[in-house]
Amino acid sequence: MNSLSRKLIALSTLGLVSACGSFPPTLVEQDIVRLEIEKTRPVWVSTTSVYREDDNTVVRGEARYPMGTHFGIFSGHIDIDLTLPNGEVYKEQNVRLTRKRIPKRSGRKASFVSRFPVDPPKGTVVHVGYHVGDHAG
Ligand SMILES: [Zn+2]
Repeated sequence: MNSLSRKLIALSTLGLVSACGSFPPTLVEQDIVRLEIEKTRPVWVSTTSVYREDDNTVVRGEARYPMGTHFGIFSGHIDIDLTLPNGEVYKEQNVRLTRKRIPKRSGRKASFVSRFPVDPPKGTVVHVGYHVGDHAG
């Protein structure tokens, strides 16, 4: 067995574990944060979950892009911000999109992940969107 097929088996095992729901509920499921996903083209954010990991809040999700295009032509990135109920804002821009490597089933998906050093209080809003172009500075 070569190392690639080993990796694929490891990935599908992970998929099974998460499908069984053995992870703790996300912050959205616990009604602590609200997600706002921007509707964008040509790349759009399809799924996002927000959860606590160690001392961080992790925002992890998946973006999709149209059939018949190559991921390489998209120069955009994901921008995420967390707005706490007191108005404090945590931002991360230029979050990299990584194309998923299982060609046939996931060929039009890319994933992103971002970590924020904050424990969000109830009422926090997480805003996620795809952004074409760059940020000045
Ligand atoms: Zn941006």
